[in-house]
Amino acid sequence: MTAEEKKQVALLKGTGVSPGIVIGKAYILERGMPEPAHFCYLKASETEGEIERFKNALKESREQLKGIKKKVEAAADGRGKEHIRIIDAHLMILKDDMLINDTIKVIRQERVNAEWALSKVLKDLMQFFGKIDDEYLRSRSFDIEHIVNRVLVNLMGKRHESVADLNAPSVVVSHDLTPADTAQMVKGTVLAFLTDVGGATSHTAIMARSLEIPAIVGLESITRSVETGDTVIIDGTTGTVIINPSESVIDVYMKRQERYKVYGRELFHYKDLPSETKDGRRIRLMGNIEMADEITSIAEHGGEGVGLYRTEFLFMNRAQLPTENEHFQAYKQVVRKISPHPAIIRTLDVGGDKLLLGDKNEEINPALGLRAIRFCLKNTDIFKTQLRGILRASATGKVKVLFPMISGIDELRLSKAILEEAKAELKAEGKPFDTNIEVGAMIEIPSAAIIADLICKEADFISIGTNDLLQYTLAIDRVNEHVAYLYEPMHPAVLRIIKSVADAAQAAGVSVGVCGEMAGEPAYALILIGLGIDQLSMNANSILKVKRLVRSVNYAEAKKICRHIVNLSTARDVEQYINAKLPELHRKEEFWV
Ligand code: PEP
Ligand code: MG
Repeated sequence: MTAEEKKQVALLKGTGVSPGIVIGKAYILERGMPEPAHFCYLKASETEGEIERFKNALKESREQLKGIKKKVEAAADGRGKEHIRIIDAHLMILKDDMLINDTIKVIRQERVNAEWALSKVLKDLMQFFGKIDDEYLRSRSFDIEHIVNRVLVNLMGKRHESVADLNAPSVVVSHDLTPADTAQMVKGTVLAFLTDVGGATSHTAIMARSLEIPAIVGLESITRSVETGDTVIIDGTTGTVIINPSESVIDVYMKRQERYKVYGRELFHYKDLPSETKDGRRIRLMGNIEMADEITSIAEHGGEGVGLYRTEFLFMNRAQLPTENEHFQAYKQVVRKISPHPAIIRTLDVGGDKLLLGDKNEEINPALGLRAIRFCLKNTDIFKTQLRGILRASATGKVKVLFPMISGIDELRLSKAILEEAKAELKAEGKPFDTNIEVGAMIEIPSAAIIADLICKEADFISIGTNDLLQYTLAIDRVNEHVAYLYEPMHPAVLRIIKSVADAAQAAGVSVGVCGEMAGEPAYALILIGLGIDQLSMNANSILKVKRLVRSVNYAEAKKICRHIVNLSTARDVEQYINAKLPELHRKEEFWV
């Protein structure tokens, strides 16, 4: 590349959250907040025309939704059914008498334009829903907001952008993406995605990795730096975006792309080899899934079970709660496919950055709010329905149940008591389940880590969720790009806290695994192994590179390294030590060298 060419290249750096190199055309999905509706006072003679315009916008919205539904139906994607259900729910809202008649009434009586009238009706509806004492029903009000926004966009004559609308393979560029957006992405159509906001362990990032869609988040100004149709190069490993590159830069990246593919293919050599260290310590490598159909990827990558099934995705993108039977069917499918290996099913972890469709969390500190087990213990009917589904699936294969965000013994006891109630009900109904189902607690809050010895007395196993454990130990919001630089898995405090949990579990003879993103990164996996963890659950795509690491190290050596690094002062010191000690370690950039 000449100096002149270098100058012309616009380069942005963010957090690479899903690896891979893509060269493609950008497609701007959303640049930030939608514009507010404008106000316009009408003459009496203009109101009927305005009502007509409103009705046309409703019709246009209906047509758009039907078009999207057709596309989703045509896509050979297991997630289609879920999306169709949401679209049907949205089509119902578009027919809602209250929404339509009230808006027409406001246009007629107050002589205002349709946008203003519709926004007013929406505001009233939101206030009405806001007062409902049922968290779930309250959250459903955002479906209405979502669909009203579509009608408003049509009234304003703007194009309504949606991931589902993409026709040509594109690099999606957006201010933000919710996990619900990501769940609608189809590999092949979405080549990669780039966002202004977000961090490495946000759920959007986790979804991108499991869908194998290269992604960079926290780019801050990407929506302002790129236009639809611009050519962009994305390097999801280093977090680099190059806008409108020259031919020679494209050439360099095409070669890298090829090398990356070769590297991926070579890893498959490890698929059927045992996951054990050179000195014979077995490390069980399992897969994390968000949706039942991801299970095939675990088997394809030689994983030995589902170490974390994030069931919140069963609740997303839909208008009604899943029924017990839907829970049962989804879990049964997972158990059948992964058998004879076990499936660890985590109960609903909603809240924080995992919101239901269009849901807006009104809490000031959602990450510290009514999340996960706290939500379930407040909504025991939702919780018990899920537990009954999990229990019924336990009759079909090896199932373990895992409670997220346990902060103390009381929450664990209450959760177990509800599990016992569900067992008693099923027994009375003559429905089979595994009476000895193992119960686990996630260790992802420092309070739980500190009393891990006490938790181990009342749980059959524990699983360390490092994504949240880092968030709460280091006080960094996992979705805030401004503090992403503080996300340091090698921070001595993180290493020490994991060590104390692993020691407590070992002393109690309780199995301890790690299911956060740290488990899937070879350098961190080495440390986790040295700290005594023998079960790592990760994105299926990371299993092979971690297995290669496992097979290349000595457990005794890993332990020695860990004894040393827990006494170092900074994450940088730890990193330098690890890199110097094991130069052959599989670092992220390995395929460049
Ligand atoms: C974690 O916190 O590490 C974890 C595995 O749970 P989640 O990422 O779903 O919050
Ligand atoms: Mg967590």
